[in-house]
Amino acid sequence: NIVTSLDQQLRSRAEKVVPGGMYGHLNARPLPPGYPQFFAKGEGCHLWDVDGRRYIDFMCSWGPILLGHKYPAVEEAVERQRQQGDCLNGPTERMVELAEKLVANIPHADWAMFQKNGTDATTSAITVARAGTGRRKILVARGAYHGAAPWCTPSVVGVTAEDRAHLVHFEFNNIESLEAAAEAAKGDIAAILVAAFKHDLSVDQMLPDPPFAQRAREICNEVGAALIIDEVRAGFRLSVGGSWEKLGIRPDLAAWSKAIANGYPLAALTGNDRFRDAASRIYVTGSFWMGAVSMAAAIATIDELLATNGIAHMERIGTRLRDGIAEQAMRHGIRLRQTGPVQMPLILFDDDPSFAKGARFASEAIKRGVYMHPRHNMFLSLAHTESDIDETLEVTDVALARLASEYRA
Ligand code: PMP
Repeated sequence: NIVTSLDQQLRSRAEKVVPGGMYGHLNARPLPPGYPQFFAKGEGCHLWDVDGRRYIDFMCSWGPILLGHKYPAVEEAVERQRQQGDCLNGPTERMVELAEKLVANIPHADWAMFQKNGTDATTSAITVARAGTGRRKILVARGAYHGAAPWCTPSVVGVTAEDRAHLVHFEFNNIESLEAAAEAAKGDIAAILVAAFKHDLSVDQMLPDPPFAQRAREICNEVGAALIIDEVRAGFRLSVGGSWEKLGIRPDLAAWSKAIANGYPLAALTGNDRFRDAASRIYVTGSFWMGAVSMAAAIATIDELLATNGIAHMERIGTRLRDGIAEQAMRHGIRLRQTGPVQMPLILFDDDPSFAKGARFASEAIKRGVYMHPRHNMFLSLAHTESDIDETLEVTDVALARLASEYRA
């Protein structure tokens, strides 16, 4: 008489009524043994699965949770707006307030428009670029993720070659390949679309080299194309004003989502005056795009992030985690790589072509209440404290010790 967990019961019920039981990036099936699929609640930096197990959450819903689950000031703003209404015949005052806030805090932005998901924002961005330039080609980095629409989904299933016909690829941080792509698309370049930094699945993360970023800006200037930065994953975690500001590079358009409203569904496209007219001529919309609750959540999220100096906090605890794991790996004789910004950690193991070591490490961690990801970058929040990191490090120490003994044997 085997007692099955609620998670297993829900998975079998879902199998019957949901294609594949689950789909998309939150599908737990590709994860190592021990990961739950279904969750019951979240609070601060903790998550509880449907079987009542608690985890320290290092995925933050894959980015959206910036301040912590159920952050009080955001929930209060949400509740206030809910009392007034959410989905009405038009936007509320919140839309104007939020657009003003983005324009005030994002140097390149002269305007903002709102959607729901990151894919909406990246798709709107290339549409504005094409409308504004009258051209077709979009230069994109090979392997970069910009969403799940037919033009950008990483899968080829159900997608036609025509959907991607006007994408021209280059290698991130490789000026020669960027120039070659520009040459190949000569006369027809609408935009260069590039992520805030390289955060592709299963490979080391990479910040943009200043000369590469500079060259991307120059090419756009030379040919009159739009430089679009995809800030969907990095936005508000690395900076509020734009990830390339510190390099002195401003995009013409930027796509935002994920962390913008601390878990409430919202995306934004920001742009400069050069593309204002084009942005006003394209037709993009959605039944829920003007929902006021998410906009109220975004206003509160940005205010709190700025008031708490949340990015500096995430950098501090991210450094504590990275230093701790580096020391443990050294002590256990395990070679691993931690790349990218500390508040978006990625841990990959050396000599691990099939990611078996990463999977074992993550499995040992999840068993002990630490929800990490073996291949995708992780996310820290304002809610992670120093003691949460220390508790995590106790677990990673055991997990790395296990790994060391297994791989020595
Ligand atoms: N761009 C980037 C860089 C992303 O990380 C994501 C989501 N992982 C998207 C676009 C698409 O966002 P969404 O899933 O909200 O459509």
